[in-house]
Amino acid sequence: MTTEQESQPQALTFKAEVQQVLQILAHSLYTDREIFLRELISNASDALNRVQFEMLTNREVLDPEAELAIRIEADSEKRTVTISDTGIGMTRDELVEHLGTIAQSSARAFVQQTKEGHKATASEIIGQFGVGFYSVFMVADRVTVVSRSYRPDAEAAMWESSGGESYTVGPAERAQRGTTITLHLKEDAAEFASPWRLEQIVKRHSDFVAFPIYSGDRQINQQKALWRRAPREVEAEQYQNLYRQLTLDSDEPLLHLHLSTDVPVDLHSILFVPAKRERGLLERRVEGKIKLYSRKILILEEAKDLLPTYFRFVEGVIDSEDLPLNVSRESVQSSPVLQRIRKTLTSRLHRELNDLAEKDAEKFARFWKEFGPFIKKGVATDYEGRADLLKLLRFQTTASGDGLATLADYKRRMVDGQKEIYYVLAASPEAARSSPHLDPFTARGIEVLLLTDLMDGFMLSGLREYEGMPLRNIDDANLELPGEATAPEPQISDEQFSRLAERAATVLGERLKEVRASKVLRDSPARLVSTEDAMGREMQRINQLLGREAEQQPRILELNPGHGLVAALARRVEANPDDEVVTATLEQLYDNALLIEGLHQNPATMVPRLLKLMEAAVERP
Ligand code: ADP
Repeated sequence: MTTEQESQPQALTFKAEVQQVLQILAHSLYTDREIFLRELISNASDALNRVQFEMLTNREVLDPEAELAIRIEADSEKRTVTISDTGIGMTRDELVEHLGTIAQSSARAFVQQTKEGHKATASEIIGQFGVGFYSVFMVADRVTVVSRSYRPDAEAAMWESSGGESYTVGPAERAQRGTTITLHLKEDAAEFASPWRLEQIVKRHSDFVAFPIYSGDRQINQQKALWRRAPREVEAEQYQNLYRQLTLDSDEPLLHLHLSTDVPVDLHSILFVPAKRERGLLERRVEGKIKLYSRKILILEEAKDLLPTYFRFVEGVIDSEDLPLNVSRESVQSSPVLQRIRKTLTSRLHRELNDLAEKDAEKFARFWKEFGPFIKKGVATDYEGRADLLKLLRFQTTASGDGLATLADYKRRMVDGQKEIYYVLAASPEAARSSPHLDPFTARGIEVLLLTDLMDGFMLSGLREYEGMPLRNIDDANLELPGEATAPEPQISDEQFSRLAERAATVLGERLKEVRASKVLRDSPARLVSTEDAMGREMQRINQLLGREAEQQPRILELNPGHGLVAALARRVEANPDDEVVTATLEQLYDNALLIEGLHQNPATMVPRLLKLMEAAVERP
């Protein structure tokens, strides 16, 4: 390069791939245009880091006394924004090298793709390749960079471009080390020429940058992030403030987890479990939000894959020096660092929740009430997290009283010879407790899980067994239970029973597969049992509960010949095969069974029949 060239401004053309990126950025309707400021601050912060490092090892640095800081100024009349730093600076050649090309070959490949028809958005480009600096052209139609390298003998240089195909580089006047970037804003980006607006953006995206950011003579960033402090130095109130800032939720969180460590990965994180799932009418969010910081720069507002889906109610901040700034969705899956972070945080959350259960059962019960459905869904969908999830599961059972039981509790209370875990599906805990299916279990003192939540059906699809013991629905027709229990003495002859059974088969028709005498019922007159595969039934049940069209599969009606009602019915059939009271009672027994299981589609249809039965009962002297 000749001295003449160096002393004169010179026009150069951007590399082809830069031109393409610029074109995409300038013409995309990019809603998050404000991120240009984050990109510039991020570059400035890097430049400051580098000069700081230089000064540790090298005394020959221009302006060693200059404060390491970033300054932002806005001029609404001229419609300009200026960002300056006292960082490492760039020489003329570095300006050409850094701001005239895109270094990464992956970026070039990406641009190639867009030529082949893939429609790229600005966020995609920025997200994937960190073409950070060029994002200025989303808001500016002319950008000037004046820079002076930290090397004492280097001269100041300037770079200027209006986007498009070319830029100019040349000499400049600048005494101080560092870089100043001036954006001449587009007409439709005039909003950014306001100190208030810029401060708002800094607060949102760059509040915890490690160097001070000044607007006028005021520092506008907080600098030291709470999550980078040692947990013992942070007051409870500070966690709450952070939670409020992050979530706009005025309730206190149920739980916070603060993790600050350098090994095996650099990871600083504060996570919150909110107190409530719903936020009433003004519900602000569907799921939790995790902000992702790298090197103190906010890089993702809503990081999705850093925790398993079943923890999606968790909110907070994750910060790691080991993350690339241009982290994107795909990289979470492919990056070992991110996988590591995900694993660490997930297992810590599990530990924290298990601790909570141990130390504060009441609080854990609140957690379970709010977020149990997420955990249950996780059991069905997240194979990897299954072992941990099973520890969080809680059940109401026939033995749990007002409390909740874990699967481990259940296992401990199993009776001699019990090899299965039993559950009953019902509309509510009250209905479950009055289920006729419970008769043989009550008689033998065997505990039964009461599953009464819509999500329980989904959960069961992923919970076929626990520690080698299969889960069994107690409406199964072929259960073999450990231990003995005497069934009540039949009050009618086999013949009387057969006639009643025939009558029931006629009345209930297609709805039944078979009518038979029950060997297990004690206090209940009747129940409906199933023979098909439990999984199929549960899916059907889910469909039905969701109000989807689902036909009742025909089932087996078991009648208890030792029950007074059944005996009386049999006698009435004997006296009059077409007795209307018998017909109505059989119909009602069938409906009762559906009702208890929560599967009755339209209980109001029972009312006329009940009236008839009441009339018959009252008429009798
Ligand atoms: P990235 O920051 O991802 O490398 P950019 O397009 O934002 O991509 O910046 C390209 C390069 O320009 C940077 O790597 C850096 O070397 C240089 N650069 C940008 N801004 C500054 C600055 N304020 N001070 C010093 N160098 C800078």
